Amino acid sequence: MSKVFRNHINGEYIDSVSGETFENRNPANRAEVIGIFPKSTAEDVDKAVKAARAAYKDWRLVPAPQRGEIMKKAGDIMVERKEEISRLMTREMGKVIAETRGDTQEGIDTAYYAFGESRRMYGRTVPSELPNKFNMTSHIPIGVAGLITPWNFPMAIPTWKVFPALTCGNSVVFKPASDTPATAALFVEILIDAGVPPLAINIVHGTGSGVGTPIVEHPDINLISFTGSSKVGKIINEKAGKDLKRVSLELGGKNAEIVMDDANLNLALEGVLWGAFGTTGQRCTATSRLILHEKIHDKFVDMLGDSTQKLKTGNGLDESVDVGPLINKEQLEIVHSYVEIGKNEGATLLSGGEPDESEDLKKGFFYKPTIFVGVDRNMRIAREEIFGPVLSVIKVSSFDEAIEVLNDSNYGLSSSIYTQDVNSAYCAMRDIEAGITYINGPTIGAECHMPFGGVKETGNGHREGGWAVYDFFSETKTVYVDFSAKLQRAQIDNR
Ligand code: NAD
Repeated sequence: MSKVFRNHINGEYIDSVSGETFENRNPANRAEVIGIFPKSTAEDVDKAVKAARAAYKDWRLVPAPQRGEIMKKAGDIMVERKEEISRLMTREMGKVIAETRGDTQEGIDTAYYAFGESRRMYGRTVPSELPNKFNMTSHIPIGVAGLITPWNFPMAIPTWKVFPALTCGNSVVFKPASDTPATAALFVEILIDAGVPPLAINIVHGTGSGVGTPIVEHPDINLISFTGSSKVGKIINEKAGKDLKRVSLELGGKNAEIVMDDANLNLALEGVLWGAFGTTGQRCTATSRLILHEKIHDKFVDMLGDSTQKLKTGNGLDESVDVGPLINKEQLEIVHSYVEIGKNEGATLLSGGEPDESEDLKKGFFYKPTIFVGVDRNMRIAREEIFGPVLSVIKVSSFDEAIEVLNDSNYGLSSSIYTQDVNSAYCAMRDIEAGITYINGPTIGAECHMPFGGVKETGNGHREGGWAVYDFFSETKTVYVDFSAKLQRAQIDNR
């Protein structure tokens, strides 16, 4: 019998109002059902919002350091249950166990960061322009937060949103991706065990149109934090914008790694393999463009081809596997359609280019790590987010051209350059148009205490992670205290 999961709404585990359900299966082995989940609708969302609104009244008044202690407790429970969470995540989402342990660890780190931040959340005191008057700012909560997450970081991304939202004193309605609801359900269970008031954390399972849209459109939700594709992000921005909701959008990427002629090639190679094929290329920060200086191009391509052949594809629970499956059939078809597009555009396939259907991989959505060489920057495979293990190699003849090609993108999330020239490194830090730049490291590897986000179609200017996200989840309140016992008119009486 498959495990049956429920929504957590108004402090109770309940079925969806419609009674409908959906199944979640293991992408490495379609025969394995992870669980049965409620397929919810606007009615379920409404119940969740009412509960969150009720919880907000008291939760906003709990001193922030006390809220932070609950987040720390959640982190402690995640430490105890780290292996269980990580194994579930690999079964549910497919990425290899070393990576799901990293995903869980990011959640733990984010919990502990929230604990620390709960004693900071600094306002400012600022001298008044008038005598006997005191000016200050403080952070106050906003209300009910609607949090919508993708499937590629089933634990880390929910924690990036839920911990700061709650620590700032907001209550939460959370909709995880329908491909990874079990990890999200486990996270909510942990939050409740840690002491988050049950009405303050509501999880509503279902599709984007069934649950995501009603969250975005609900009049009693004050802010939306969304991570997902640029396509959906634009729809959300438009809908939420009509009601002037605060919206944070963390969207797609087409990240590039530059390898200059003076780079340490072995180091750059390790970076490319990890950046392009980690999480089977299904990271917003995945390296999907490789920009090679012409002087090292042929040598590096040979090294890359050889090393890619050695990567082991398989079930992520096997510790010796490097590359897990794609998340679902639709994603496999999208990846393969881009491979066809690349071939038709005239790029040369160096490796991969087809589903991996060797004996025990037939049960899942496996795709061979794929590399195209001879890619022109105007080809679709060099411009559009593929979200799979497909790398496009572009040859350039100078540092300036490398930067120009890197910047020639509608996206601007992560970026990387391998060079041993300190001047080139500093120019790259200044001139690359992206929210994140790594020097001598791959495009992936965010740390939870650093701001995370991108420019152009990767987002709308907000940042997750670090201190920046605490500004998003709180309002700045400006307070003036006049202790002169008389009317003092700013801009008039002091002139
Ligand atoms: P997606 O946009 O299809 O879905 C993301 C979430 O939004 C899911 O929970 C989905 O059910 C929901 N959703 C779908 N349509 C909706 C709608 N109309 N209204 C409200 N909610 C809706 O993305 P995905 O396939 O889950 O994730 C992959 C994408 O996410 C990639 O583009 C990737 O780059 C991006 N991503 C970005 C970041 C970042 O921080 N920038 C991190 C991870 C993933």
